[in-house]
Amino acid sequence: MIPVTKPFLPPEDVYKKYIESIWKRKWLTNMGPLASQLEMNLKSFLDINHLLYVTNGTIALQMAIKALELKGEIITTPFSFVATTSSIVWESCQPVFVDIDAKSLNIDANKIEAAITKNTTAILATHVYGNPCDVLSIEKIAEKHNLKVIYDAAHAFGVKIEDKSIFEYGDISTCSLHATKLYHSVEGGLLISKSPDLIRKLAHIRNFGISDFDSFSELGINGKNSEFHAAMGLANLDYVSEIIDKRKALSQRYDEMLLNVRGYFPEWHHKATKNFAYYPVIFDNEELLLKVKKELDKNQIFSRRYFYPSLASSLPYLQKVELAITEDIAKRVLCLPLYYDLTFEEIELITRIILRIQNNT
Ligand SMILES: *Cc1c(COP(=O)(O)O)cnc(C)c1O
Repeated sequence: MIPVTKPFLPPEDVYKKYIESIWKRKWLTNMGPLASQLEMNLKSFLDINHLLYVTNGTIALQMAIKALELKGEIITTPFSFVATTSSIVWESCQPVFVDIDAKSLNIDANKIEAAITKNTTAILATHVYGNPCDVLSIEKIAEKHNLKVIYDAAHAFGVKIEDKSIFEYGDISTCSLHATKLYHSVEGGLLISKSPDLIRKLAHIRNFGISDFDSFSELGINGKNSEFHAAMGLANLDYVSEIIDKRKALSQRYDEMLLNVRGYFPEWHHKATKNFAYYPVIFDNEELLLKVKKELDKNQIFSRRYFYPSLASSLPYLQKVELAITEDIAKRVLCLPLYYDLTFEEIELITRIILRIQNNT
């Protein structure tokens, strides 16, 4: 059996050392020493100044919307994980979907302005598969129309544009450290902002809105994460570079084998580094994708239609809109297995099945 993903786990003794320290201190959560250490180590690893470690990537999005006091309409992408949209609705705002660019699969910056109304307060875009959005165009539009920008950078851990962390774009960026992500702490999330004021506000929101021991500064929630999760984050951080290197080698093997695939690959931001978080293939048509997927399933190889269906046309709590490019891409994109323990032989097996199916179709 080949799953679509498999979490990386550090050597047990590395994790145990952290856990033993928790047993000694009996400090289990509420921004304990390991959570603080993780924040420090992440800032240094990512080369950024301000960062908060929170419960998960979804609460990070909700806290970002809350901290920016967004109301009304938020322009967003229909090609993302459901949490990108549900967070907007959860915070009582209205998602307004803008179609994606067929090459990058990110929100099409050229189509954003047409969607702005007097009720628009922000843009919430996802760096899909870790591939940065057109951040400069989005920044210009936001400045011109006085909008806030949030990036759902759940896929983009470690990605840089010209030596600057992708997390430093927008008013706030969020990340997910869920077990299925490239770098994880079992469950976990990050909030990043260049603004110390926003980070202070978010830190209060994370802790029920408590600003000092006896006073409240705003409406808050419980967005804290535990020492056990931080321990996994600390242990895994030492292996991130190794994980990315391995994924790079595996992705290159896929590239070589799929040189003649009947489909294409997302075009990466030309100034950005890659983190090899996913291996998506956009097949020529849905029929081919379905045949490939069926044959892979039959061989106990699990791929994932990520993201399918379009969020704009499938959520029961929203009016459905069909955006042509998103509808088309969502039907044709398949993420192939990619994880640290995957082998070159397995990639050869997977790609041989794909090529055999396409040549018989
Ligand atoms: C995983 C993911 C999230 C949600 O993160 P959780 O940590 O699972 O809550 C949000 N957005 C995107 C694009 C994701 O891939």
